[in-house]
Amino acid sequence: MSHSHTHAPGESHSHSHSHGPPQPQAQPQMMLPTPDPASQAIIEADFRPVSLIVAPEAYAVFCQDHKSEKCEICDQDYVGLNRLAKILATNPAIAAPPPPNVVSRNLSQAVNHTKEEGNTLYKQKKHPMAIARYTMAASIAVQRPPWETNQFMREELSTIISNRSAAYAESQDYISALADAETVIAVRRNWSKGHFRKAKALVGLGELQEAKEALQLGLAYEPTNAELSAFSAEVEKMIQNGDEKVKDEA
Ligand SMILES: [Zn+2]
Repeated sequence: MSHSHTHAPGESHSHSHSHGPPQPQAQPQMMLPTPDPASQAIIEADFRPVSLIVAPEAYAVFCQDHKSEKCEICDQDYVGLNRLAKILATNPAIAAPPPPNVVSRNLSQAVNHTKEEGNTLYKQKKHPMAIARYTMAASIAVQRPPWETNQFMREELSTIISNRSAAYAESQDYISALADAETVIAVRRNWSKGHFRKAKALVGLGELQEAKEALQLGLAYEPTNAELSAFSAEVEKMIQNGDEKVKDEA
């Protein structure tokens, strides 16, 4: 799944960088990490001084002999560097990515709020409406800017999709429930809930053996999970009773 962060160019993030109070330790004096000696050696071995013309008014540098931005003779290419310099110099208000430990609170609130609406509708057994809210919450969750902690998005998204899988199962749309469960597992493999949802969907489809396997995999990650154990015993009983009839009805 690629949630490649599609904002139209120029479209502003609604959560544009109101990232709560600044963290006390993130003061301007940046702590530079100690350079790795091996990488440092590679950089130094590769280092070769070049002659440049600096044109500050153009925010650009050129090769000295040919005044060229990209010069084959000098084997120099400053196109990318000059473009970056121009963008930074002409857009003083440009938002540089904040540190990776900062998480957009507005976005989190929007995701949580929408998910809670879904949960309320789910409890009221308004499953199609719950599904719509979960879908909305998921689409907000994947708008997280790429510099935010990926782990955070995974947890947020997997919870929403897991709830949506449950809502699909309640609507007896077991194929969609299964697809969502698979997504949850793909995003957060060691979380018991994905395996539980998958087994639920498979039981709905009458695939008891596969359901049993899904539960076994979940239990391999979390052997003491009560929900998985209880459902596993239930499925085992169904298999012994020869309860594969749901499939034939479908
Ligand atoms: Zn040149």
